[in-house]
Amino acid sequence: MAVLESISADTRSRIRITKEQTVEKQQCKGCDQIVTDPALEDRVSREVLAIDGGVPVRREPLPLEFPGVHHMDEEEVDAAVKVLRSRSLFRYYGVDLQREVAQFEEEFAQSLGVKHALAVSSGTGALHTALSALGAGPGQEIIVPAYMWVSVLAAVVNHGAIPVLADINQTFCLDPSEVKRSITGRTSGIIMVHMNGAPGDVDAIRAIADQRGLWLLEDCAQCSGGSIHGRKVGVSGDMSVFSFQMNKNMTAGEGGCVATNDDRLHQRASASHDLGYARGEDGRLNFDDLDLCLWGRGYRLDELRGAVLRVQLRKLSTITQAMRRSKLRIRKVLEQYPGVQLRKILDPEGDTGAFLILTFRDKDLAKRTNEALRAEGIVPSSQGVSNVLMLDWGLHLYYKNRSLVEKTSADGAGFPWQLEENRALQREYGKGICPVADDLFERSMLLAIPSNLTKGDEDDIIAAFRKVLSHVL
Ligand SMILES: *Cc1c(COP(=O)(O)O)cnc(C)c1O
Repeated sequence: MAVLESISADTRSRIRITKEQTVEKQQCKGCDQIVTDPALEDRVSREVLAIDGGVPVRREPLPLEFPGVHHMDEEEVDAAVKVLRSRSLFRYYGVDLQREVAQFEEEFAQSLGVKHALAVSSGTGALHTALSALGAGPGQEIIVPAYMWVSVLAAVVNHGAIPVLADINQTFCLDPSEVKRSITGRTSGIIMVHMNGAPGDVDAIRAIADQRGLWLLEDCAQCSGGSIHGRKVGVSGDMSVFSFQMNKNMTAGEGGCVATNDDRLHQRASASHDLGYARGEDGRLNFDDLDLCLWGRGYRLDELRGAVLRVQLRKLSTITQAMRRSKLRIRKVLEQYPGVQLRKILDPEGDTGAFLILTFRDKDLAKRTNEALRAEGIVPSSQGVSNVLMLDWGLHLYYKNRSLVEKTSADGAGFPWQLEENRALQREYGKGICPVADDLFERSMLLAIPSNLTKGDEDDIIAAFRKVLSHVL
């Protein structure tokens, strides 16, 4: 064993002779080969990092990172069965309509404290619906964060508008001063994304939008149930969107929502998500108002998922409380290590707790720590992607979106980049455009906090962190 060689003869003999119960960390490396006292042997061997051949803290995988899934039970089953028995799976009419989607919308709007919620079939659909309602199109620049999800870019590009990347700060959300710097005479709005379960500085961004006469769209897909200083995420934007895909805080497998306090935007969203025409109370299409005659996208939500989402919404605060409690416990321990920089959380009480982000001095240390933690057993089963270096975190990083960097187009003719209206709006998207994000991505790792961690799971995570950090820092 290579580590054995690093232990001096003096140390070896001391361990052998005294069998001291308090063995220094450095002396422990590889001592399991030498000491004979079984109790001490066990303690000592546990101190060797698993990545160096020691005993891992944990052998069982951590639960998968699907917050809503862990709280699903017979309630969701009954809700879905009730809809099936009614044989009325379409939201606007049926032989025995249960109005599950309509009730979900009312309950979701009420839980947020906004006037309108429109349920749609996905978060991506919600983004497209909201941008249609807001009138996004060619000749417009729309500010998006360097750290987001590809759906944000897709919604902008599919509308023919030009995405403009703005850098993030230590919240891993938009930096307000970078938003300000990115505004031009062609900017129409800002999409702010509350990343990884914790809200960004939405008040500052709202103020900028107001000053400059821009709309603000809040993407709350990763932050359902979150709040900042007592205000729910999703109430500050002109519109806000949510996702209920399986990785999100509440889920029906797929699903989304568009929320707004504006009657007109709600009507336009409603027309856009459906056939392109608004509907009256009776579900009949309205052709009278040309401003509401849009082009439909076909993102209606069905009754089955509406019913499941009603149950999940009732469980949302239980789900987020569980994650937040686990995360705060782990974070408290990590706060004791000056060599670990934790993501800036603007309001710990409003953090949904879904993710823990750690930043290190440099890229190599982040890599070494992450690999060592994984070797200690801090990993979900093979399906999960939790506990990763942020560099391996895929399409959340702007420059990993090849379609963006290469400006590809569905029509093969360069839409929307080559449109006449966009000629003057040429932007670049390769690595280097957002230096703060580039730097944070390289030095950070991310651990999902499952919503069903036991105290024992948390103990293991903490023990693994302590063990690894005491070696690598
Ligand atoms: C998941 C997600 C979406 C898209 O939601 P889907 O329901 O998967 O289409 C949009 N934005 C962000 C920030 C997301 O995390």
